[in-house]
Amino acid sequence: MAASPAQSFVATRAPGRLVLAGRIDERAHIADLAATIDEPALAIDLEGVTYINSLGVRDWVTFLRTLATRNVALTLERCAEVMVLQMNMIVDARGTARVSSFYAPFACDACGWEGAKLVTTDEVQPIVALGRAPETECPDCKQEARFADFIDRYFLFLAA
Ligand SMILES: [Zn+2]
Repeated sequence: MAASPAQSFVATRAPGRLVLAGRIDERAHIADLAATIDEPALAIDLEGVTYINSLGVRDWVTFLRTLATRNVALTLERCAEVMVLQMNMIVDARGTARVSSFYAPFACDACGWEGAKLVTTDEVQPIVALGRAPETECPDCKQEARFADFIDRYFLFLAA
């Protein structure tokens, strides 16, 4: 029986790039991936990560630390909400990595749409620094959708 992407862990490598998807737990052995990385800079795409547990976080932190000691410049791209939540709870879950973009929850009061939208750190950080919440266009009705979490909680990792 084949595991669906939501259940299993998949790591895909390309030059300067690592794409992670599925579940990050003790069976993902994510720390072992550090041995496969020999470039000076690495972008890690986290859009497809559906779940991460405490053992997975422990391995992820080990992975980031190993690369940091080798001075690999790390960029985290398109971080799924589950990864943002971990980065907000555990400073080492971001480590020395730069976050270029991530998903954030939004809700539309006009039509009831709720969902995550991709935002870039460059666009959001200046808004949050002013104590304001980012807004986005509702994909369904095109009205203004509001940010659907607490700014001092969800964007905590940007200040670290
Ligand atoms: Zn709407």
